[in-house]
Amino acid sequence: MRVYNFSPGPSALPLAVLEKAAAEMTDVNGTGQSAMEVSHRSKDFKPIIDKAETLLRELMGIPSGYKVLFLQGGASLQFAMIPLNLAAVEQGAAKKRAAYVETGIWAKKAAEEAAKFADAVTLAGSKDRAYAYIPQAPAPDPSDAYYHITLNNTIVGTRWPRLPETGKVPLAADISSCILSEPLDVSKFGVLYAGAQKNLGPAGTTVVIIREDLIGRAPSWTPALLRYDIHAGEGSMYNTPPCYGIYIISLVLEWLKAQGGVNAMTEKNREKAELFYSYLESSGNFRSPVEKPYRSLMNIPFVTTETDPERRSALETRFLREAAASGLVNLAGHRLVGGMRASIYNAMPIDGVKALIRFMETFEGTIRK
Ligand SMILES: *Cc1c(COP(=O)(O)O)cnc(C)c1O
Repeated sequence: MRVYNFSPGPSALPLAVLEKAAAEMTDVNGTGQSAMEVSHRSKDFKPIIDKAETLLRELMGIPSGYKVLFLQGGASLQFAMIPLNLAAVEQGAAKKRAAYVETGIWAKKAAEEAAKFADAVTLAGSKDRAYAYIPQAPAPDPSDAYYHITLNNTIVGTRWPRLPETGKVPLAADISSCILSEPLDVSKFGVLYAGAQKNLGPAGTTVVIIREDLIGRAPSWTPALLRYDIHAGEGSMYNTPPCYGIYIISLVLEWLKAQGGVNAMTEKNREKAELFYSYLESSGNFRSPVEKPYRSLMNIPFVTTETDPERRSALETRFLREAAASGLVNLAGHRLVGGMRASIYNAMPIDGVKALIRFMETFEGTIRK
């Protein structure tokens, strides 16, 4: 039996995508081979990667002048590749500065990684209130190599309500957990990246969307596999790309297009999130720890209103156990923050959110006051 899977990542994929992949498992596009088996240099793989790129460009409205790359190493490798390619300098040269805003744990990790290759400066952050809001973003220095933000903060459940003004400084954004969940004006960014396993496909593929003028700035000591110019020059095939992941991404994008594209998806995502947040608002036993203007559409952490730590912990353990027994799985909060979290990406149907709310209402009836 399929369950409602609220995992933050790897996360649920649309059932139609899994069924199509299953039907094509031993023979993709009449090639007589699985998408796992085709040579990436063959005429059989080209239509697969081309379809993934074409659909992504169409659905996101990616302008010409931007390259789309399908890489490996997860979003975490982009924490290093962005500073390496955009800010690192030849040995002995003066370090370049890169600007960061610390809105959560991933944002912090990105800045820490950048500090190995650049003068990474954290301009603002929201750690003072447990990352429950997005701070006012100070302007960068015009000479900054780039300005990095985490557009949707998966662990703490916040999202930037509007983009920071960075002038001519390229804006770099981690969109791992919000890609294709809402419209995004790609032309406002220098570089965007997303690990696929949240809203796009299986783990193992990372999508990078980068403005062409930012490609080719890596210092000569940069390893080949970490250089955007090499990947861009080889059409993401400098070495073997994550073929099967790219194939599944192409199916997810096809599914998304059939759903009506990003605008239709946005409407559904808003409806799902509003339903859940308004339930939390009305509940006497659960609440959202996130300040209202910054609440994510994709990741919704929640906690019990129980204040006694021991009773709270026991309550949350029972909640997670009983939810899982009811077919509502992976609702535990991130190990660093605790509590609960419902990740409701594009593939989560509204019926899943309604089932969760029904379960929580029933659960509330069992809480002894
Ligand atoms: C999951 C996640 C990451 C880490 O992704 P990996 O692919 O595991 O490296 C980074 N940033 C955000 C916003 C995420 O949600």
